[in-house]
Amino acid sequence: MTRPIGWWNARTAVRGIYKILDRIHLMEKKSACSRREFLAKMSSLPVLMFGGVHLLSGSQGARHIAQIDVFPITYPMRGRFKFFEGPDGHMMGRASAVIKVKADDGTVGWGESVPIPKWSYETLESVTTTIRNYLAPVLVGHEVFDIAGAHRIVDQNIAPAFGTGQPMAKAGIDIALHDLLGKMTHRSLPEIWGRKAIPSLLLSYTLNPESLDDLDALIEDGRNRGYRNFNVKVSPDPEYDLELCRRVKKRAPEGYLWADANGGYDLDTALKVVPEMAEIGVDILEQPLPITRITGYQMLKRESPLPILLDEGVVSPANLVEFIRLDLMDGVAMKPARCGGLLPAKRQIEITQDAGLLFLGSGLTDPDISLAATLQLYAAFQYQLPAALNGPQFIRESILRDPLIPEQGRLSVPEGPGLGITVEEAKIRPLLVEL
Ligand SMILES: [Mg+2]
Repeated sequence: MTRPIGWWNARTAVRGIYKILDRIHLMEKKSACSRREFLAKMSSLPVLMFGGVHLLSGSQGARHIAQIDVFPITYPMRGRFKFFEGPDGHMMGRASAVIKVKADDGTVGWGESVPIPKWSYETLESVTTTIRNYLAPVLVGHEVFDIAGAHRIVDQNIAPAFGTGQPMAKAGIDIALHDLLGKMTHRSLPEIWGRKAIPSLLLSYTLNPESLDDLDALIEDGRNRGYRNFNVKVSPDPEYDLELCRRVKKRAPEGYLWADANGGYDLDTALKVVPEMAEIGVDILEQPLPITRITGYQMLKRESPLPILLDEGVVSPANLVEFIRLDLMDGVAMKPARCGGLLPAKRQIEITQDAGLLFLGSGLTDPDISLAATLQLYAAFQYQLPAALNGPQFIRESILRDPLIPEQGRLSVPEGPGLGITVEEAKIRPLLVEL
């Protein structure tokens, strides 16, 4: 429907511009970024303002969320990864809730919630019903451009736990709204953020052998695909873990070696393991203890010759600030799917960098849409270390017109508005599961 440019539209446009100015002001105040970063952000302001004015005036008017659909699917997988093993040892498949958000002008944004019940408490059933029954009804009618406001609404309707409640369900909505914003303003996400993206990311190959006898073949497979950097899943058996790291280092001495314990050690074991891992040449140890072992992390960080990263438990920016104040870690393994989506994940990276800590690019075996969102975020921060984005390593299908396929251990960042990808709805149907 055509709407004249009137007082109400002009007022909405001005309000939108002030919201953007307000957010940039807050961002500057909180992040104390360099002059160069500040200028880069300011240079994006006209883009945001013109995008806002373009959409909020003239024939289009302010745009609102008209409809949210959720498609629970399972991607078939290859290889062995402990988080996806069923009771009989078979890989269960990568569960995902694909989210389609339609604006009132018909523009569509795509998101994806990617639960792994063996990694944290959300399931395909819970993310699907949470979005369908609790989030979609309160978001329909909300202004598309106001993503921060959408976060406030979803947090009011699914309350916090120790940090954001049901962050994986919320991440899918956040990603879809970012895609929608990009498509409506004809900007990529790094452009919207006022950041210059790098064109591709270096990847790390995940090693999770059931037995050390399987290790050489797995490393060879990674090397044949062009990978030179490896991340290993360790804990609970320190002897097995040290031998695993020793063998990987021997086969790939030049590669970055990243060990992730997923909270599987107790403090005594972690204190014994870290000097030996450092001696072997492991570069970093992620999540050695459960996140609830606060004093354990404080001691381990003081004692460890290896940098200690946190992952599980760093759910909201507020959690992260508290963990930094408590001096628990040397850095954070990021993943937008863990912490409610791109808006809080971007904030977490800024907080981490402002605190002078390490930021490592990680993921949750992200398929298609969640992977594209993660790539856009890390590329926007010019991330140079190997990224543990192993979706393409383990997932066998894609719902994209142009699937994201690594070449020589690197993954290109999709170009174009929003997430830069095209979802083919016909490819969703064969993967749908009945809940
Ligand atoms: Mg981890």
